[in-house]
Amino acid sequence: MVLDKLGQSLNNALRKLARASTVDEALVRDVVRDIQRALITSDVNVRLVLELTKKIEKRALEEKPPAGVSKKEHIIKIVYEELTNFLGKEAKPIEIKAKPTILLTVGIQGSGKTTSVAKLARYFQKHGYKVGVVCSDTWRPGAYHQLKQLVEPHGIEVFGNPEEKDAIKLAKEGVEYFRKKGADVIIVDSAGRHKEEKGLIEEMRQISNTINPHEVILVIDGTIGQQAYNQALAFKEATPIGSIIVTKLDGSAKGGGALSAVVATGAPIKFIGVGEKIDDLESFDPKRFVSRLLG
Ligand code: GDP
Repeated sequence: MVLDKLGQSLNNALRKLARASTVDEALVRDVVRDIQRALITSDVNVRLVLELTKKIEKRALEEKPPAGVSKKEHIIKIVYEELTNFLGKEAKPIEIKAKPTILLTVGIQGSGKTTSVAKLARYFQKHGYKVGVVCSDTWRPGAYHQLKQLVEPHGIEVFGNPEEKDAIKLAKEGVEYFRKKGADVIIVDSAGRHKEEKGLIEEMRQISNTINPHEVILVIDGTIGQQAYNQALAFKEATPIGSIIVTKLDGSAKGGGALSAVVATGAPIKFIGVGEKIDDLESFDPKRFVSRLLG
């Protein structure tokens, strides 16, 4: 069972609209209230929810549907459009401006961080860049081998040392190693958070301060629903988040929690994970995401 209450509640609100025999002001306000409630109970910031729903309400009440489009259809379209705008109209890629561009990934254990690092490495390789992967996850013994297994068949090198316990040292050495080798993109995989939260957030902060990444990428499990907000917030305290990858959207999860992560960090989603394999990474498409969330 997928804990995606947000998608379901938004979907219910739209269904109420679709089922109504007449669309009047009272119904529009009622549906807008349902949307508000759905977003607020999913921990989306109240001020943002009010801004968003005010826009929906105003447009729904004032706009005349184009010829051949029913009022209902038009209002549903407005909801889609405004939610899409909320997520950032267009998919933005991660820019590779500096050489090397250093990317740091953060995320809770099990979120799909290690897999996403491999996917990103492959993505940049396919776009013609020379990529190096640094494993500084000293908490999960298998992480280094997992990364090697994923990327080495594609000729991508991993820097790491499963014996080393100092994550900051590893990250620093790894970046230096690939810098000397002339890499265009260096992706650093940090330790996932689990029970040792305070220590790991501090570690994240130190790694970030040491390697000075061009972008910090937060990996969020698309199936976790509302918990995404607090997770994202905790990471944001350690280091500014530049972009988000939402994983596991190949299953039935609608990814409603991702919306909360966007709100918590103020960062856009740039990629989604759609499977366990290295090529299962897609650029984020806000329109498609909203259709899925509401569909
Ligand atoms: P980490 O602990 O955050 O590094 O997580 P891993 O990368 O080891 O991933 C945890 C599990 O989720 C593994 O079994 C992965 O194969 C799986 N996984 C990661 N990303 C995806 C995805 O986009 N779709 C699916 N179905 N599984 C994924």
